[in-house]
Amino acid sequence: MSGALTQEELLLQSTTREFAARELAPTAIERDEAERYDRSLFAKMGDLGLTGAPLPESVGGSGFSYLAWTLVMEELGAVDMSMAVSLSVHLLSQYPVVTWGTDEQRQRWLPAMVTGEQLGAFALTEPHAGSDAAAIGTHAERLGPADAPHAYRLTGTKIWISNAPEAERYLVFATLDPTAGAGAITAFLVEKGTPGFRFGAHERKMGIRACPATELIFDRAEIPVANRLGGEGEGYRIALSALGEGRISIAAACVGVARAALEAAARYLTERRGFGGPLAEQQGLRFMLAEMAREVAAARAVTREAARAKDRGEPLAEPSSIAKWTASDAAMRVATDAVQLFGASGYSRETGIERLMRDAKGAQIYEGTNQIHRLIVADELFRRVIG
Ligand SMILES: Cc1cc2nc3c(=O)[nH]c(=O)nc-3n(C[C@H](O)[C@H](O)[C@H](O)COP(=O)(O)OP(=O)(O)OC[C@H]3O[C@@H](n4cnc5c(N)ncnc54)[C@H](O)[C@@H]3O)c2cc1C
Repeated sequence: MSGALTQEELLLQSTTREFAARELAPTAIERDEAERYDRSLFAKMGDLGLTGAPLPESVGGSGFSYLAWTLVMEELGAVDMSMAVSLSVHLLSQYPVVTWGTDEQRQRWLPAMVTGEQLGAFALTEPHAGSDAAAIGTHAERLGPADAPHAYRLTGTKIWISNAPEAERYLVFATLDPTAGAGAITAFLVEKGTPGFRFGAHERKMGIRACPATELIFDRAEIPVANRLGGEGEGYRIALSALGEGRISIAAACVGVARAALEAAARYLTERRGFGGPLAEQQGLRFMLAEMAREVAAARAVTREAARAKDRGEPLAEPSSIAKWTASDAAMRVATDAVQLFGASGYSRETGIERLMRDAKGAQIYEGTNQIHRLIVADELFRRVIG
């Protein structure tokens, strides 16, 4: 495999780069300050075909490779991590329907999402279940005969749900038996406006502040059996498989954050003068930039390799964990160094450099914390070596 990007992939990359510079960059700092989600920008991503770019053509997507998707996410992450995360979560909520949905569900649920007309969200986390996702307590009570329910009644609370309350379509994980662990978790397609489903508190975040997140509250919300995704008890597998894809997407956005921080620092040190010349002539600072460049290159390499694994249809647990852990740590280190290299200007909220650092921090936490990725990588290592 040459690993070279195709003409189509390069065109998608340059189109996304131009879009991000033209549409996202001018208001990125203002939207972050105001914690403002601009739905018209999401719609424009839809017009450009980004909202379904890696989904198969059979469901209305553009059928791009996952490698191509990482190019899109890197370009968006470099300019506006909030919109990159919003789009990534939108895809995270669609992939399981492509993979696990019936034909009827795919036809009913996906077309308006693929085009960006409707926005999706992925609802797993609860007040008492974050990393230990198998411990979720949102209860799905069967209505009708136990072996042939006509509906489920959902009761419980989700927290930190990105894209809520803007999103129209929610992929919600609930349990048929809160004492039974992963084997009872079941996935449901839930529409905004369903009686008994409402939004709770808005999460006041450190970073990605232009991407909203709220609590979801289910109070005996009735979901028809036609909206159960997969079988009873298949929800945990569905969540894990979606997160495999989602983590590569987030990793790519983190590569973008790190790249933006690196390039901004290099430009600044070329312009900023001290001690008789541009600061870029100081060897200690050049060494810092070189180390930052190394972090970006390494993060990009593992992220693209994980995307290629997805394109080859290989298991994603290990490569996606390595990619997301490596790239989010790289983004955090490089953005922190960029703040340092900008001096007080980096600490100012006017320049957007501290925003990169705040945005990077969240990526070390969501879609599995980087501690959990260490556990996954160790498990996969033992499975491979010991059997
Ligand atoms: C910006 C943002 C957006 C989010 N968006 C979404 C979303 O759209 N949908 C959604 O469902 N959730 C979302 N989340 C929630 C996110 O997935 C959880 O925060 C994450 O899984 C961690 O759970 P927790 O916060 O409960 O931490 P905890 O699980 O309570 O962990 C606390 C600390 O202990 C560590 N830890 C826990 N268990 C272990 C262990 N076994 N070994 C070693 N260390 C461990 C963790 O790494 C962490 O450092 C979002 C979170 C953030 C910050």
